[in-house]
Formats: sequence, C-alpha cells, structure tokens
Amino acid sequence: MKKHESDEINTKGHPFVGVVWPVRGSKGDNYAVKMENFGFTCTCVAYRKCKHIKSVEAGICGPELDVE
Ligand SMILES: [Zn+2]
Repeated sequence: MKKHESDEINTKGHPFVGVVWPVRGSKGDNYAVKMENFGFTCTCVAYRKCKHIKSVEAGICGPELDVE
C-alpha cells in the first residue's frame, strides 16, 4: 500500500491518526483512506496521491479554512 504525505495536513501526532474514512469512487467502488503518522494511505492502486485522499483532506481542511 502506498503512503502519501499530506501537503495540507501535518499528520504526525494528529488526533485523527488511525481513523479510516470510507470513500466511494467514481465507479461505485469503495475505498478506505487511513491517516497515519507519516501521511495517508488508500486501498486503491493509484501511485500518486489519489482523489480519495484529496477528498478526505478537503473534508478535514475545508471547514477549518474559514476559521480565523
Ligand atoms: Zn485512492
């Protein structure tokens, strides 16, 4: 399984480490994105950081971007 460091989130020691997010792919497939201390993993076969991870990042970062 590939690991992907996050550009948006400092995952080391993050309270969400160990959390798994279920993500539904565009073809209806289900993937699992997990936060680790070193970044994110995804159960899909993508080499580069995939849209599943990006969607999880957006979900984590999104609401906080508006907070001053
Ligand atoms: Zn993926």
